[in-house]
Order: sequence, then C-alpha cells, then structure tokens
Amino acid sequence: MDELAGRVSAIVLGILQDAGLPHIGCRCARCAAAFDHPEQAGRAACLALVDWRVEPAQVWLIDATPDVKGQLNDLRAALGPHPGRPARLRLPDGIFLTHGHMGHVGGLPQFGPEGLAAAGLALHASAALADVIRGSAIWRPMLAGIVWHRLVAGEPVSLAPSLSITPLAVPHRDEWGAGTFAFRIQGPSRSLLYVPDIDRWQEWPAARATVAAADVALVDATFFSVAELGGRPPVAHPLVPDTLDYFAADISKLVLIHLNHTNPALDDGSAERALVYASGATIARQGQVFSL
Ligand SMILES: [Zn+2]
Ligand SMILES: [Zn+2]
Ligand SMILES: [Zn+2]
Repeated sequence: MDELAGRVSAIVLGILQDAGLPHIGCRCARCAAAFDHPEQAGRAACLALVDWRVEPAQVWLIDATPDVKGQLNDLRAALGPHPGRPARLRLPDGIFLTHGHMGHVGGLPQFGPEGLAAAGLALHASAALADVIRGSAIWRPMLAGIVWHRLVAGEPVSLAPSLSITPLAVPHRDEWGAGTFAFRIQGPSRSLLYVPDIDRWQEWPAARATVAAADVALVDATFFSVAELGGRPPVAHPLVPDTLDYFAADISKLVLIHLNHTNPALDDGSAERALVYASGATIARQGQVFSL
C-alpha cells in the first residue's frame, strides 16, 4: 500500500446487507454458489478510514459487522502489530456506529473476552445507542474494554488535521428509539457520504443537498425490486431504481452499497447491474479505495 503513503483513504471492507452473502439458510442460486465457492462470498457493509500521513497509520471503522474478524485482517497493513503483543494486530483507533441492527453492531462481541479482549477500544455512538448496548446484560463482558465517545447529530468529530467525521440523523426502522446515523467524512481534499441504511430518501429532507455537497456518496442499495420480497414493498430501504432517479442530478457521485443477497445487481452480467452502470452510478466493491 506504498502508493497510499501520505494520503487519507476510505476503504470498502464489505458491500452486503447485514447478513452478508451467502445468507443464512438461503438456497437461492447466488447463496448456494457462495456456500460452495467461498471466494464468491461477500462481507457485510463496512467502511474503514485510514490516515497514512502518520506512522503508524491511524485507522477507524464505521460499524462492527458480523464479518469484523476478516475485515480487521484486511486492514493488517494499516493497523500493524499490537505494541505489547507482536503476533496480534493493533486495535483500530475507533469504531463509529451507525445504528443497532445486526450487521452494524453484530461484531462487537468479538472485541470481548472470548475474542480480542480489547482494552480501551474507542466506541463512538449516539447516547441512546450506547444506552441500549450498555443496558443489555449479554453485552456486559465486552463493556469493560470499551471507552465510549458520544456522537451528536450534526456535530463534527475531528479525527486528525484536515480529517473529520460528522454523524447525520437519517430515518430508519428504529426499534429502540436509538436512531440511525449516516456519516459525512471530510478529508484533506475530498468528502465522502456513507449512508448504508435509510427507509426512504423522501423522509430525509436534506438528502439531495447532502449528496450534492459530497464528492462521493455510498448509499443504501439493499433491494433492487419488490420481486425480491415476493412482491411486497420493503419495510425499510429504497429500491435501487428509485434511488438512481432521486439523485439523477448527482448520479456520478453514487456508489451503491449494502446490497441484499437477493439483489440481482450483485451479479456480473445482470441487466440490473448494467442498468446501474448505464445510469452513471457504480456499485461498491470489497477492497475499493477512495482517496480523501
Ligand atoms: Zn444494515
Ligand atoms: Zn440468497
Ligand atoms: Zn438497519
């Protein structure tokens, strides 16, 4: 990763909806193939921020997914060895949580005593989400290793010189009143918007202006059509063609992420994937790097 020295990067560590690909219990052709050929599997949506301008690089994650084990390993060059345990990776410098659904917090127990046994892991979350996590007895063994940092919608957090992250409240299925954040990341030369989960763009009045103000926007593309849900409209999440229409004015900024295992845009050569690219948008790829 020498070419990245002196830069700030956002690295895509997964592009799938919470449950990944293959999906538990699923025998659809896409999942069956991924069970048989693990190289076709895909990890849950996750973004890393790496500041290569310092040594060792500073590393932050957005969300702790059920695939966090492999995702941390993907960051081994950036993380480097743990200062006290050279055969282990250093802890990330912080994890920012979007919301409390499985794909976004399901990896947290890996940092507890049965897994990484993290000491001093910086966890950034809304006060309400932190309360939900702290209030559940089953999370308690992990809590001793966590240092909480409170996120407030609209208030930027400075990560390093010329690098900040701002949580933005977005409407999304909210079982605990803990809300959902998108994140706007401002790097030294470019900005990136990360919105893995939202119910409807129309319910977020700032959506278009926020996408327009960013250089690149990674956005919720969970479902392509109601056919994936037996003809029912999705309870949460916009449909991909509606998203492409809604942001037509900034289409080249859109990078689709958080695709469900049912989404045919996952397939190389599918008409749905071709439609996305013909529109001017693209689909995120695990391992994709954006220079900020
Ligand atoms: Zn999700
Ligand atoms: Zn499937
Ligand atoms: Zn969600």
